[in-house]
Amino acid sequence: MATLLTNIGELLTNDPGVGEGSPVGRLRDAALVVEDGRVAWVGSAARAPDADERHDLDGAAVVPGFVDSHTHLIFAGERSDEFEARMAGARYDGGGIARTVEATRAASTQELREASARRLRELRAGGVTTVEVKSGYALDTEGEARLVDLAGEITGEVTFLGAHVVPREFAGRRQDYVELVAGEMMARCASAKWTDVFCDEGAFDLDEARAVLVAARAAGHGLRLHANQIADIGAVGLAVEMDCASVDHCTHVNDEDLERLAASDTVATLLPGAEFCTRSPYPSARRFLDAGVTVALATDCNPGTSYVTSMSFVIALAVREMGMSVDEALWAATRGGAAALRREDVGRLTVGARADLAVLDAPRAAHLAYRPGANLVSCVWIGDLGVVTTSVVNS
Ligand SMILES: [Zn+2]
Repeated sequence: MATLLTNIGELLTNDPGVGEGSPVGRLRDAALVVEDGRVAWVGSAARAPDADERHDLDGAAVVPGFVDSHTHLIFAGERSDEFEARMAGARYDGGGIARTVEATRAASTQELREASARRLRELRAGGVTTVEVKSGYALDTEGEARLVDLAGEITGEVTFLGAHVVPREFAGRRQDYVELVAGEMMARCASAKWTDVFCDEGAFDLDEARAVLVAARAAGHGLRLHANQIADIGAVGLAVEMDCASVDHCTHVNDEDLERLAASDTVATLLPGAEFCTRSPYPSARRFLDAGVTVALATDCNPGTSYVTSMSFVIALAVREMGMSVDEALWAATRGGAAALRREDVGRLTVGARADLAVLDAPRAAHLAYRPGANLVSCVWIGDLGVVTTSVVNS
């Protein structure tokens, strides 16, 4: 069945070949035809073809569904007390992860499933149509396998993050833990698509991270890296060396890192929710973009340092605090996220792509940054699932 969405005030396609030649591929007074979960036609509303079903969007803006390429959605408990302490001046040092590990280990599978489903509903209500989900709050073999399985109920973009931090019971035996992660634990989490490592001061060093990534590659996983959030320990260079699909955070980078990234297929995923929630200085996205680096924006939804499920909030921060134009931020939250997951079928509204899109209660997509705090997503459409949410108020 073909469905026509017409009278779209502003449509962002992320096809630079249409509209005025901008990377976001902007069309005004546009229409789009969805058939079998895919985009079948895009163009001017005046020339739209007939379809079995027709929706008049009354001048609303439509954007590709957001691709949130970095979340830690599955966890138990919360850490608002740490947030309050940081806002009163305490520094983030990565130590609080152990508290979430304790709560997650103690939670039943059903509790974890329900808590994650609530967060997924929030993400979707805000326009996220593709989400990456990491394990990393169990840090033992069976527990990580449970989180990988739960993530697999939500998405195909499942990431094994056994190398999140060294758990307490391995204090003084770091090497043993790295071997466990790279060996038995990874084998047990083989169904994941990706492996990620937190490579930073207070987490895993370069050699430890490399050992896990090498094992992950041998296991057939794609690679990702949490890098240089707390300090520049050279982790961006490692991500490029290992051809990671994405290097995430990059709060601290040097010019050489930027040159290496620009010459690589590694996307820099910036997570301004983390700087917001830890009151840290934001990295300059402008610096990355001017160096020719591909940039993605993601929520980093996690209970410690970025309990954020709103991609529009992330876009607003990127525009206000990191030097991105609105179009650059919208591209980074859609096509950029898709590139960080090495996906061609999402993050764009071009013929043949998945029909994943968000209809806004606004005439222009810029309202996502211009009206921070309001959820302007009135309807979310995900490929063959069709309309999955029609308003936050009713969902
Ligand atoms: Zn993260």
